[in-house]
Amino acid sequence: MANIVWHTKLRIHLDLNQDDLGHAEHPGLWDMVYGMDRMYGDRGVPVADRDLQCGGVCRDAGVDAPMYLRLRANGRREAVHERREDEERHIVPVSDEHKAYQERILRAAVEGGFQGDSEVRTRVGRSWIQTDTLVEGADGLRIGWEVQLSSAGTEGPRSVRARAAKAEKNGITPAWHTDRSDYARRNDTQWTRSDNLPAYVIARTGDLRVVSGFRVLDFWRCDIHAVYACPDGVRRCDRFHATPKPRDVLFDDLVRRTAAGAIVPVQFRVGGTTHRFWITDTDRDRLEDLRSDDTHLPPVREPEVPAHASRNRPTCKPSLPAPSAAAPEAELPATRILAPAPPADTQTAPVQPLVVAHPALHPSGLPAELVELQQAADDARLQLEQLADHEERDQQRQVWLDVSEAVQAAVTRHARSQGLNRYDVEKRLRQVIRHPETQPGTPL
Ligand SMILES: [Zn+2]
Ligand SMILES: [Zn+2]
Repeated sequence: MANIVWHTKLRIHLDLNQDDLGHAEHPGLWDMVYGMDRMYGDRGVPVADRDLQCGGVCRDAGVDAPMYLRLRANGRREAVHERREDEERHIVPVSDEHKAYQERILRAAVEGGFQGDSEVRTRVGRSWIQTDTLVEGADGLRIGWEVQLSSAGTEGPRSVRARAAKAEKNGITPAWHTDRSDYARRNDTQWTRSDNLPAYVIARTGDLRVVSGFRVLDFWRCDIHAVYACPDGVRRCDRFHATPKPRDVLFDDLVRRTAAGAIVPVQFRVGGTTHRFWITDTDRDRLEDLRSDDTHLPPVREPEVPAHASRNRPTCKPSLPAPSAAAPEAELPATRILAPAPPADTQTAPVQPLVVAHPALHPSGLPAELVELQQAADDARLQLEQLADHEERDQQRQVWLDVSEAVQAAVTRHARSQGLNRYDVEKRLRQVIRHPETQPGTPL
């Protein structure tokens, strides 16, 4: 049995939970549809040739599951799957792999200071949005994770574009993840893909890599030195273009950074095709700049993070309060996210058991190595922006990418060793570098 039926001729859903089937505008709908189904039955028309299919679980899974209607003696209306295997689709619990993903998403979200829940039904007018795992992100961002694994139908999930659009329209950013390359190649939503892994690997805390669906944008000038062809024609147009390049990202980072709004979905037209993938918010901002004016290299805009002095005493315990869903971006007191500065004479008693040796500290309390690396990355990027020569730019771009990767790795290490939120460490690092004058503890 199922409660949602799809009428293939009328092209409407019939919600058997409701007396009017969810269509107040069509009184007598049940009598009409049920009467027709009975007549088909009396005439020996096979169930598959009638007009009713499962409109819920089976349809979502990309399966045409024929149904017929029946009226119980107690007046209860029911829709019945013709085939046992369709029925089972409703009762079989989700696969271990699927569950492992749901748990991993929730764990990654919570570690990033966000909240979430699985199997969430959001009522929208007469219908609803069913979300595998919903993460409540920063500034009211809601990320709706849909995980589609090998167990789904070969056709793949149906009406993905419509379902994704509906979610978007109702304030949920759809995030579809799969382990199938055929789904990942589709352009109906921003698919991400990991390798096909067993549940116990997905459930582990180790690295889970996203191998497609995330890209970095390469911004370049369309002159005779350019390596890419002009997307607008044969000749060099001397304007600037953006070219997306695949880049791996860790699944947990993807979960947290989408929730933080630091990785965002984007649409990118090439020829007649709209590609859909994820990029950083910085790339998104630059892409928007480029779309409004492609005669200049779009500058890298830094988010304005107001930093202010704290009168609190520095604390030795970097305990992070979980930000509430309503105001997750609320500024944490600066001293709360500082790495502890160990008093010089107590070096023998490690404050943080995870830290083997105390790294040299910048006056801000962050490891000096981290600040230096970020500074180097910023310098490299600045130099890149000032270069005009194609080959020099290529070399410099590589320098910048290498240093940036080193920064990312160092941030991850530091955040892990101190039990801090990685996103907060990044934010703090940006504050320290770009607004050094407002940092408490900076020598005058
Ligand atoms: Zn069904
Ligand atoms: Zn061009």
